[in-house]
Amino acid sequence: MRKKISVSDCSFSEAERQNVNTCLSDGWITMGRWVEQFESDFADYCGAKHAVATCNGTTALHVALLAAGIGPGDEVIIPNLTYVATANCVKYCGATPVLCDVDDASWGLDPEAVDAKISSKTRAIIPVHLYGCPCDMSSLKSLVADRRIAIIEDAAEAHGAVIGDSLAGCVGDVGSFSFYGNKLITTGEGGMCITDSSEIADSLRLLRGQGTDYSVDRYWHSVVGYNYRMTDLQAAIGCAQLPKLDAIIAHHRNLAAVYHDLVHSCTRYNFWSQTDMPDCQGVHWLYALVLPPELTAFRDRILDLLAEDGIETRKFFYPIHELPPYRSCGESSEFPVSERLAHGGICLPTHLGVTMEDAGFVIDRLLVALDSCL
Ligand SMILES: *Cc1c(COP(=O)(O)O)cnc(C)c1O
Repeated sequence: MRKKISVSDCSFSEAERQNVNTCLSDGWITMGRWVEQFESDFADYCGAKHAVATCNGTTALHVALLAAGIGPGDEVIIPNLTYVATANCVKYCGATPVLCDVDDASWGLDPEAVDAKISSKTRAIIPVHLYGCPCDMSSLKSLVADRRIAIIEDAAEAHGAVIGDSLAGCVGDVGSFSFYGNKLITTGEGGMCITDSSEIADSLRLLRGQGTDYSVDRYWHSVVGYNYRMTDLQAAIGCAQLPKLDAIIAHHRNLAAVYHDLVHSCTRYNFWSQTDMPDCQGVHWLYALVLPPELTAFRDRILDLLAEDGIETRKFFYPIHELPPYRSCGESSEFPVSERLAHGGICLPTHLGVTMEDAGFVIDRLLVALDSCL
């Protein structure tokens, strides 16, 4: 019996255990010195001036939008193909998500489509670096230049992705990250915002901590804030995970290159995969590919066949406009690219435990499954 190959996985060593034990022995497990350390380490890693940790990636994105001043009456442009948290956070602010199609290379916000959706109410755009592949940030930046439109990067899947001279999260006004269990590095649940603006950083801290303005007094709450704090136990794990990030990214990139070669050397089927923009280097959080159109209808069956071989996979997210809370946000005809991707896409096992041999087995079995459908 072959080993089961999971779609994602996390791995811990003595370093995480030691940090957590130290935290427990010190007797302080809520937000404290470990959170400060993790924030400072993460800011250094990304090359950002400030980092503010939160309890998960969704709350990081929520406070990022609030700190950028997003509120009722505002429109925020988001990609139609993303995890639902991106859309929900806009709703939490009382603002209106405006769905936009993605480009066929990076699968991130299509600058031309964004241009067509900008209105006098547009106050922010949220580029999502899907599966770790950077969006076309230079075009998006020039689109919003000279307009009062903030860029909030949803880098939940893109820790360490390279965009020109920067890393993902540093190009927009604020970048947000997730440390959920299946992300590149994890704290179980956890999130982080990074920014170069000290005003935004102050605002993020205020909002995360119940709006408490310590410069006035301990129980002085100057705005309606939230309890979105990360615990020291989470941060202790994060401090041990972060030094491993470069090795994790290197493995994901190597594995993706192997998958890519195998998939595109197959002459029977024409697969569609992500392409890095010029000067960008994705991190392949998950290796993603799209089935040829004639096989889209068989996707569920193909994934079931792979599961029988012990290979766990994931479908892509549903396009946001198909989900009940967002059905009024757009018509299918506006989103040809995101619809094709969403309905034909699959993510293959991508983590440190997947060997290059495993990748060969995964693609062998994938091709066998496809052959059996036609
Ligand atoms: C994971 C993820 C989030 C949310 O992060 P959580 O930590 O699960 O709250 C937001 N956006 C994207 C694109 C994600 O993949």
